[in-house]
Amino acid sequence: MPSVLDPDLRRALAERVRYCHEMGIYDFYRREARTSESDAVVATVDNLSSTFHEQREVEQREEMAARKSAAVAKVAPEHILEVLTPKPEHGVADPIAALKLIREDLGDCTRCKLHKQGRKQIVFGVGNPRAELMFVGEGPGADEDAQGEPFVGRAGQLLNNMIKAMGIRREDVYIANVVKCRPPGNRTPERDECETCSPFLMRQISVIKPKVMVALGAVAAKNLLAMNASMSELRGRFYDFLPTGARSSDSSWQGTKLAVTYHPAFLLRDPRQKGEAWKDLQMVMKYLGLEPPKKSE
Ligand code: SF4
Repeated sequence: MPSVLDPDLRRALAERVRYCHEMGIYDFYRREARTSESDAVVATVDNLSSTFHEQREVEQREEMAARKSAAVAKVAPEHILEVLTPKPEHGVADPIAALKLIREDLGDCTRCKLHKQGRKQIVFGVGNPRAELMFVGEGPGADEDAQGEPFVGRAGQLLNNMIKAMGIRREDVYIANVVKCRPPGNRTPERDECETCSPFLMRQISVIKPKVMVALGAVAAKNLLAMNASMSELRGRFYDFLPTGARSSDSSWQGTKLAVTYHPAFLLRDPRQKGEAWKDLQMVMKYLGLEPPKKSE
């Protein structure tokens, strides 16, 4: 495929890929023996279209009910081609090495405007690269920006307590954010920032392959699920989640369960909701077979 595409063609291709992703189609094949670059691009569009129609026929025979809770993370059309491009970590079995490659690929990132709005450093993520449980927040705050680690301030302390209450340790889980640079004044990350940064989060998820992921707060939930709903609508259930760009043919992992709960910073402001958050975590614990620690522990 040429490195520079006609903008209209690029947009059409990106739209088609996104549509296929929303239908659960991830693997695309390109016909060979095309004579020109434009033919090759058209072939890819054709293939996406025919793949889509073939897949659709299969899907129509499946139970639609099973698909209702399926979620595909949202990536802006202009980033979909980037998501589909082979990545350095592909084929690397060791998750520690694979995460290192993603971090190197991120580099001293200037892909979105957050790089020039006062960030001290990129906050990549922390924890067990083989974690069964992963937490995703919206973005670093001042403490995280200073220390280069997600959830280290007061909200981080509460998250640690929540993790401990589940009978596990912070080192057992992996923690990351939708955006890796601190938004100025701790404002909510904007849509373009989330869409630019989230492909790296998707790659982290694809490497870690957690059994369960917990979205902390509405921003993380809405970005991961591509749903615009209230917290009360989003909480209280599991979603089948496969990160954009993950290969559906990966027999070692067919996706993760995603649950939504309140952001610890919100719980600090409204402690009355801690009981509701605990219900969400209990749902996760039940799925993972975790027991709360005994009182003496
Ligand atoms: S938020 Fe993400 S995409 Fe934006 S500059 Fe930071 S690392 Fe790059």
